Amino acid sequence: MKNNSEYIIEVKNAKKVYRMGKERILAVDDVSFSIKKGEFCCLYGASGSGKSTLLNLMAGIEKLSSGQIIIKGHNIHRMSEKGLAKFRQNTLGFVFQSYNLLNSMTALENVELPLVFKHMSVKRRRKMAREMLKNVGLADRQKHKPTEMSGGQQQRVGIARAFVSNPEIVFADEPTGNLDSKTSREVMDIIKRMAKANNQTIVMVTHDKGLTEYADRIIHIFDGKIEEIIDLKAEDKKDNEAPTGNTG
Ligand code: ADP
Ligand code: MG
Repeated sequence: MKNNSEYIIEVKNAKKVYRMGKERILAVDDVSFSIKKGEFCCLYGASGSGKSTLLNLMAGIEKLSSGQIIIKGHNIHRMSEKGLAKFRQNTLGFVFQSYNLLNSMTALENVELPLVFKHMSVKRRRKMAREMLKNVGLADRQKHKPTEMSGGQQQRVGIARAFVSNPEIVFADEPTGNLDSKTSREVMDIIKRMAKANNQTIVMVTHDKGLTEYADRIIHIFDGKIEEIIDLKAEDKKDNEAPTGNTG
């Protein structure tokens, strides 16, 4: 399928119902929005509002109850299991709240892992992983295992791993949820810098209002629905507009 849309991600009437015995939980309730390439988009809302479910639907991790999710022109919920796995490998990166690093592997090996599946020479992928670690300020921690690093350092390894294959889209679910506020800012600065450098699209989930200011656009989720969409870039523009004075 060709992608004629100016949007890299389109969410159309997405709905997710969980069934727990007799109970029906409407976690995502008829949500529609689109994201442009290179945009930093934040899904913001209270705990339990459906942010993670929505992100997992967008990443093809959870199955939609109804609606569509189109990424780069592909209806990802119509793809075969294999096709989706390949698509994820080639197009998407992930950053997790709990880092999800392999404890038996060094920082370098963890960052290298996404490239192992990409038929790349060991030498080349090691070089790329090393460069990524340098990029996140961990050149001197290559041989450390996750348990030998601080939370902030582990998340920087997580970020290096997410970006090493240069994915067009990076999904991040509460990436600073386990970090103190100073380290959170450092981690957010790295994510933003990396994404802007390569025009990558970020979709980040957070319940932390303070972190939404890193985004270009905030999608405020309440009770499974969109409460409000705030375009911070447009507000920037407004703020920067020179006063026109009295032009009569
Ligand atoms: P958030 O990430 O905003 O905290 P979630 O997307 O995790 O919210 O959850 C949204 C709602 O869906 C909550 O009421 C939660 O209890 C419910 N929920 C999430 N995952 C499941 C699941 N696997 N089975 C049943 N209910 C779920
Ligand atoms: Mg969540």
